[in-house]
Amino acid sequence: MSSLRNIPSIDELLLQDEIRSLGKEFNHEFIANLLRRAVGIVREELRKSQAVLEKAAINHRILAVFNAEIHKSARGTLQTVINATGVVLHTNLGRAVLSNRAIEYMVEMAGHYNNLEMDLPTGERGSRYVHVEQLLKEITGAEAALVVNNNAAAVMLGLNTLAAGKEAIVSRGQLVEIGGAFRIPEVMKLSGAILKEVGTTNKTYNRDYEQAINENTALLFAAHTSNYKIEGFTAEVALQELVELGNKYALPVMQDLGSGILYPMQQWGLREEPTVQECVKSGADIITFSGDKLLGGPQAGIILGKKPLIEAMKENQLTRALRVDKLTIAALEGTLLEYLSGNPAVNIPVLRMLCQSPQELLYQAQQLYKQANDQLLDHTNIETIEIVEVEDMVGGGAYPTYRIPGWGVAIKFQGITLDQIAGQLRLTQPALLTRRQDDKMLISVRTLQVGEDEQIMGLIQSVLQN
Ligand SMILES: *Cc1c(COP(=O)(O)O)cnc(C)c1O
Repeated sequence: MSSLRNIPSIDELLLQDEIRSLGKEFNHEFIANLLRRAVGIVREELRKSQAVLEKAAINHRILAVFNAEIHKSARGTLQTVINATGVVLHTNLGRAVLSNRAIEYMVEMAGHYNNLEMDLPTGERGSRYVHVEQLLKEITGAEAALVVNNNAAAVMLGLNTLAAGKEAIVSRGQLVEIGGAFRIPEVMKLSGAILKEVGTTNKTYNRDYEQAINENTALLFAAHTSNYKIEGFTAEVALQELVELGNKYALPVMQDLGSGILYPMQQWGLREEPTVQECVKSGADIITFSGDKLLGGPQAGIILGKKPLIEAMKENQLTRALRVDKLTIAALEGTLLEYLSGNPAVNIPVLRMLCQSPQELLYQAQQLYKQANDQLLDHTNIETIEIVEVEDMVGGGAYPTYRIPGWGVAIKFQGITLDQIAGQLRLTQPALLTRRQDDKMLISVRTLQVGEDEQIMGLIQSVLQN
């Protein structure tokens, strides 16, 4: 207990050189508050411990806690992470990394006034929705387009505009939940549409939809089962057939595509999912998908469809609440321009990561392996380092069962558990997120950015030295 008497006062601490020099950089109140917090933390530590500490030792400990706190606070909480998991669209890591063109557009529009809502030729008030619409129409072949905050908002807006107070028919096999927060039945309820489930979990036929149609039906709704796959005896009605049924009864068909691929991925073995262009061609009245999944752009909900329906959505009051800001529009334009006139498979990071050949990945893994051998192998905590084949994933609720063959480096540690080392690596700057395979730490090279391989070695070394 007697240690507590040796805790220096806040005033004493404030007079110390180390703290005073920070006074030039940070505001006084902020520093005083952090010192109080640091003293509180150390007081708790002393209370729990048996040891009696001298004032100098306590002072030292308070400064250490203070320094850790000030680094955390002065930075904000958002920070960069090196993604060595091989999951390209990692929902917890911010999904798509943007292309250079998207970043340049965004920075330019952020630092300047712009024509977000002004029609420059006439000088009259314009609409923010004109900006990406033309690009989306060119690329996808859709009649009209609208962009909102995210795909959940797109689905909500579509259902509310087309089916509020009326029935929307959905197959039981498609009542999806995405990411724990987006559930079709809940979104439907919030939108005011009445969910009319048809068929069974594994089989739904055309006649199931047809029998459910009545005078209160407003919409045929299909959701892409992004993050799971029903295997075995299954039947779903193809979008094309649903469109035919819709035509027969003059009902619009809405498809929630989820990921939305604009670029034919078949040549890379990613076969299962239809492209957005194919869905547009099939005649669906409304198609929705995310901007930050396979499109490789910013968070956004993209709505494509027939002009009168899109116009009705633009006039819906909900659109005002779900609208996108100028930064999103800028980043989306930059991304879409890459599809129109650039080289998406090279310049859009998401596509580049997915389209890398096994040879390229193996070469990168070999480079990483060499660095690991040179810089880590001598360390007592390292048992083995090897090049291994890995199974990467698309992530973001796309191609849920598909594993993409890739390459990586596996490190086996000794004298420290994998959980310990992985935990410490999550706290480095930047943080490093790895995967585990049996008793080894796995670094998949697919999701690494240029220059990160060198950083990784430094981070592992820094953690092992502690
Ligand atoms: C990802 C996904 C959503 C949600 O999209 P957000 O852009 O995350 O809001 C909705 N539906 C499907 C089918 C999805 O895959």
